Amino acid sequence: MAKIKSLKGLGARYGIKHRKQYSKVHFLLKEKRTCPECGSKQFTRDAVGIWSCKKCSLKVAGTAYDIKL
Ligand SMILES: [Zn+2]
Repeated sequence: MAKIKSLKGLGARYGIKHRKQYSKVHFLLKEKRTCPECGSKQFTRDAVGIWSCKKCSLKVAGTAYDIKL
């Protein structure tokens, strides 16, 4: 059985389809984004739906479940 690397938290539950979707979103949230205000790459996710820029301290709410494809 093929294992998906660094996919912790779900274990062998919920089936492969859901785990694949989870890992996709998981890595998306960990991914670095560009700040819409200053264009800095230090734009990270603080909590669910809260994104903040470390450079210009801009905080953006929402986008809790957005998936860019
Ligand atoms: Zn910024």
